[in-house]
Amino acid sequence: MIPKFEQHSIEQLKNLLSEPKRIVITTHYKPDGDAIGSLLGLYNFLVSKKHKVKAVVPSDYPASISFMKGNQKVLDYEAKPRNVAKAFAEAEIIFCLDFNESKRVEAMEDVMMSNKAFKVVIDHHLYPKIQCDILFSFPKSCATSELIFHFIYALDNKYKMKPEVAECIYTGIMTDTGSFRFSSMSADTHRVLAALLDTGMNHVKIHETISDNFSEERTRFLGYCLKDKMQVIHAYRAAYIALTKNELDQYNHQTGDTEGIVNYPLSISDMMMSALFTEKDDMIKISFRSKGDFSVRELASKFFSGGGHQNAAGGKFFGSLDEAVEHFIAALAYYKDQLQIQDTVKD
Ligand code: 5GP
Ligand code: MN
Repeated sequence: MIPKFEQHSIEQLKNLLSEPKRIVITTHYKPDGDAIGSLLGLYNFLVSKKHKVKAVVPSDYPASISFMKGNQKVLDYEAKPRNVAKAFAEAEIIFCLDFNESKRVEAMEDVMMSNKAFKVVIDHHLYPKIQCDILFSFPKSCATSELIFHFIYALDNKYKMKPEVAECIYTGIMTDTGSFRFSSMSADTHRVLAALLDTGMNHVKIHETISDNFSEERTRFLGYCLKDKMQVIHAYRAAYIALTKNELDQYNHQTGDTEGIVNYPLSISDMMMSALFTEKDDMIKISFRSKGDFSVRELASKFFSGGGHQNAAGGKFFGSLDEAVEHFIAALAYYKDQLQIQDTVKD
């Protein structure tokens, strides 16, 4: 979709950005491809406009999305909390990308919110609840990176996009749409992709870097998850994989290794939803995916203090792995009217 940014807000921002400013751009905890794509897409654009920009993240992120221009400059709050706090304290403008609640930046929340900078949120998650000066919220957009594409042109309609910026935006759209297949994809998004490819960017390199770049151990780990760990509950058209810390250690788990595994059970034809549980030091992290009308965002928010999108969401559980799975099965029972096959065709 093409977002209609409020004209008054765009004028206000054009005004603010008419002189070099100290800017911080940030995104959510454990950033994904859309988070880093939108972060670095906007970062490279604003740097080219002579602003003093710091790109800041609340935690590390997978090596597979560490190839975009500007990646070397990204400051990780967990690794360098003081540098990040200084960047926020000095910022005149802060851009918050790809999240709708300040708690999505976890421990970085206080340093991000407790300053006088002008805050702009650009996001595509439903129901934003965040204090800011300008909110550009477009839940119909397939990716925050798609919004960044249109935002750049709203600020400068003569901008000549460079391949490095196009690569960031392409990465975000690709990763948030399951490689251009989710229902959030539109003809408008394909037109954005066409404009990105027109810059001469290399899309093959991006697909190979993201999709064909796992270690041998990770590929064997995937086999283990699917063969030994996947539980299928046909009655609820649901499947789950629950991984202990021990199992993750055994396969030398790295950030990003579990990414994508939650999608595999959905390739079974009658599955409606899938969940992946990973045991962390202090909690259980859960990823949810679904097909069609079943909203995993609702399930994640009601049962696992989380959120996300209709077909891709996440949450947390404080307790043991077994208890988390039990809680999940109770949640499936709660949604049984939506999950169970309703009409049995008889001849
Ligand atoms: P993933 O499963 O890839 O971690 O996340 C899928 C989607 O759910 C993303 O849009 C992400 O922002 C959202 N999400 C993941 N974990 C959480 C969480 O703990 N809280 C909220 N509100 N959203 C989450
Ligand atoms: Mn996103």
